Amino acid sequence: MKDISKKVSLLCSVCSNSQFMALDCEGKEVLEFSEAPIYKCSDCGCEFSREQLIEENQEIIDANLNEMKKEAVNELKKELKKSLGKLGKIC
Ligand SMILES: [Zn+2]
Repeated sequence: MKDISKKVSLLCSVCSNSQFMALDCEGKEVLEFSEAPIYKCSDCGCEFSREQLIEENQEIIDANLNEMKKEAVNELKKELKKSLGKLGKIC
């Protein structure tokens, strides 16, 4: 199956931008995005803590999870139809 987890991206709750800068406690930009304590929206400049960002994106994350589930079910159905179609031809 395709890697669909990459579709989930966090959004700024102020301007819906999806680009963030990762900052350390002193406001310096860091390269380790996943370990930064602060994320700054590159568009409106609002700063969020990791917890804030995740909390405010929980709905988006949930929605994405539901989408993924739907996609997985659809893939399954397709596969099922294919194998059923093959069976039909044999019989
Ligand atoms: Zn923003």
